[in-house]
Amino acid sequence: MRILLAEDEPALCDQVKAALSAEGHAVDIARDGEEAGHLGATEPYDLIILDIGLPLRDGLSVLKEWRAIGVATPVLILTARGSWSEKVDGLDAGADDYMTKPFHMAELAARVRVLIRRRAGWTRPVFERGDVTLDLRSGRATKAGMVVDLTQQELAVLSYLVHNAGRMISRTELSEHIYEYDRDRDSNTIAVFVARLRKKLGAELIVTSRGRGYMIDGPG
Ligand code: CA
Repeated sequence: MRILLAEDEPALCDQVKAALSAEGHAVDIARDGEEAGHLGATEPYDLIILDIGLPLRDGLSVLKEWRAIGVATPVLILTARGSWSEKVDGLDAGADDYMTKPFHMAELAARVRVLIRRRAGWTRPVFERGDVTLDLRSGRATKAGMVVDLTQQELAVLSYLVHNAGRMISRTELSEHIYEYDRDRDSNTIAVFVARLRKKLGAELIVTSRGRGYMIDGPG
């Protein structure tokens, strides 16, 4: 999943980015409100983490603008300790959840997983299809009860397909959701990752359609 992190404290940025990257997410960073507003309005993020106290432009006005122009991406706001009014204003402006600083990375990561699952309409933390399972909390995949080692990019592709089960996903869309902003996006590499996933987890899991893309069948 591709996440925008709008935060101006470098140490916190590094910690959050490391924690979310370890879960297979591609994380773009915006250091001020202007950059956050632009990226959030123009890039197809699966989730946005937005500090309310940003330089140049405060997070609340950025959030209001996104919602006004129809950006429906889930937004988790970061608020200063003791500022209950920031939480209320943020939720009223269209935020989906909040965290108060300082927070534990594990809690942020858990809330991120919940927001992403909820948006996908996926209520359970473990995906099961045939003899394949994917634990969306740990990123651990199994086939016939045996753990399957996946690279970070293979996991990113699988996770995006699982969260969008039932919909045909083009290579271009996949590459937009597994790579960060400044990365070279070669959609041909997507075919390589899918081929490896089919080899590791069974060819029947991922339906491929020449010229259209890839799909994991929807529930039911
Ligand atoms: Ca700040």
